[in-house]
Amino acid sequence: MTQPEPLSMMRAGLPDGLAHTELISSLEEAELDRLAQGMPVVAAVLGVGGGAAMDAAKFIAWQRAIPLYLAPSAVSVDACVTNTVAVRSAGKVDYRGFVVAERIFVDFGLISRAPARMNRAGLGDLLSIHTALWDWRHGAGQGGAELIPEAARSAAQILRAIEERAADIYAVSPPGIEALVRAYVLVNEIASDVGHAQAEEGSEHYFAYCLEHVTGRSFIHGEVVTLGAVLMAEMQGNSPGRVRALADDAGVRWRPPELGVSRDDMDTTLRELPGFVRDAGLPWSVIDEARIDEATVSMLAEAVR
Ligand SMILES: [Zn+2]
Repeated sequence: MTQPEPLSMMRAGLPDGLAHTELISSLEEAELDRLAQGMPVVAAVLGVGGGAAMDAAKFIAWQRAIPLYLAPSAVSVDACVTNTVAVRSAGKVDYRGFVVAERIFVDFGLISRAPARMNRAGLGDLLSIHTALWDWRHGAGQGGAELIPEAARSAAQILRAIEERAADIYAVSPPGIEALVRAYVLVNEIASDVGHAQAEEGSEHYFAYCLEHVTGRSFIHGEVVTLGAVLMAEMQGNSPGRVRALADDAGVRWRPPELGVSRDDMDTTLRELPGFVRDAGLPWSVIDEARIDEATVSMLAEAVR
């Protein structure tokens, strides 16, 4: 299960007739169903590529109960270590299934050939701990999930550790790549232990999903999550400078013009955010507490200009 670019880098190594290759173009429900139905009988599935290839491979392994192997071609998202599949259904993300890879191959040679921008964006799913933890802590007792202090402390520690690796992440060096993947593994362990992802997924992700919904576009996940983290840290009054500095030190692009996000897209997304999280039934976050009026919309949009 792969994508055109990683496939072009390994074509010589794929034995004809022994392996069946599928290219994944999206994680829309209809596309995944089409793949699952059209695939021949196979003994195992290997995903090579970005987040979409990882998730499509996980989907097939889950549906068919066959062994799963994953080789991320970039460390742009944590999809290689997570156990569920982020299916896009009617403009929303729905997590399905449960599957554990037999092996995750972290091939520095393959990963370092991806655009640096993609690999640096991998920080987004860790930097999100900063705002997600705030949401989790403040939501407990206000309708949100109960806080598990030990898990929250571990997540905070993962964020502090990755902060020290900003220069390696910027350089996309083997230590930087390894630090990202190992941090994903630790965050995933926390999520498995507590039964939800609130240590790393909160309002910053909700903003990213809402932006995709409003614009009908897909973005580099870690970049929009980072934009969301800067915005939500502003709204939380939660050291937005820390998020900006870490993102900039690691070379993550997050400013709206760099992502092709217009001021109109920003304003509309922020206005629709409260309704979006309500309709999607997302866990408690600062969005439930804040009044997002026109003054807040323009304050936030100005803050990330
Ligand atoms: Zn994420």
